[in-house]
Amino acid sequence: MSAQLEIDLTAIRDNAAQIVALASDHEIDIWGVTKGAAADLEVAKAMLDGGVVGLADARLANLEQLATLNSPLLLLRIPSLSEVGSVVELADISLNSELQVIQALNQAAQVKDKLHQVILLVDLGDRREGLLPEELFETIHKVKQLSNIKLVGLGTNLACLRGVLPTADKMQQLAQLVARARQEFALELPVISGGNSSSLPLLLEDDYQASSNQLRVGETILLGRQVPGGQPFTNTSQDTFRLKAEVIELKEKPTGATDQVGPNAFAETKEIVDKGVRQRAILAVGRQDISPQGLVPLDKGLTIEGASSDHLILDVPASRKLALGDQVEFKLDYAALLQAVTSPYVEKVYQED
Ligand SMILES: *Cc1c(COP(=O)(O)O)cnc(C)c1O
Repeated sequence: MSAQLEIDLTAIRDNAAQIVALASDHEIDIWGVTKGAAADLEVAKAMLDGGVVGLADARLANLEQLATLNSPLLLLRIPSLSEVGSVVELADISLNSELQVIQALNQAAQVKDKLHQVILLVDLGDRREGLLPEELFETIHKVKQLSNIKLVGLGTNLACLRGVLPTADKMQQLAQLVARARQEFALELPVISGGNSSSLPLLLEDDYQASSNQLRVGETILLGRQVPGGQPFTNTSQDTFRLKAEVIELKEKPTGATDQVGPNAFAETKEIVDKGVRQRAILAVGRQDISPQGLVPLDKGLTIEGASSDHLILDVPASRKLALGDQVEFKLDYAALLQAVTSPYVEKVYQED
């Protein structure tokens, strides 16, 4: 295929191992979140080899794929009412925020004679999913009565919608809710699931006292990036995924325009800057496969000029000796990675030491 995604499994395993080691200093378990790699089995295995305690994904189809690996599986996206049967079939644990859904999970679990584990999510301000603290205790009271549901803990998800940061204070709030729930309901509630990659920087702070004992980590394992911000995260590799795409046109073209110009096929109006005649390369990859804003050419001299569904256009300085048929390499951000791994047009190539 004309576009390939090179996946360095050793680097992903090592990233997982570094994060598992950092977390274990704070007695925190790491679950490996596979959704950024569309639950690719080799990537999931690399995470398990790195020591994550289980695998987590937002999609049931992905959990189904992961089932062959014999690892505990956690469903990240709160379940749909219409899918409760598959949830209890495919997931050992699910994150939940709706009592009605948990009641339906209970019925489905009864039918299949299973005990389904639930973590209740609390919305501590990011305003994505989660119960508000004031409705939490009434819900716990009702969940406790369900025969085939085991409430194993509380969790939160931050930094996703409003960008509310998982500060030590937020983690403490969650731990306090767990402490109160343990006491009021005589429940064990072993799990305090403190969040995603964005909680990891806390663990690097001097004398940080962890108040959660589980994190669900995807991006920092997959890309070695700190969240938010994207700077390299301590002791991790950023060279885990590489997109390669082939040059299918290479020509000198005038960059100024005397033509009438309107919005392009993607409703963007481009500012036309006359840089004279420039060398332009077209690569056989496009918006069906990647998000162009999320690609960074490894050769810093190359500039992405734009992309349509199937073409990526690069400005190439005259000093670069590119040729038709050459492969140009890029690093990817999380959005570009998500798209590349889900595109059927991008071939995956694995590397391992
Ligand atoms: C995606 C997701 C995660 C993992 O997020 P990363 O930023 O990739 O670590 C954790 N928890 C939930 C609920 C998620 O949806």
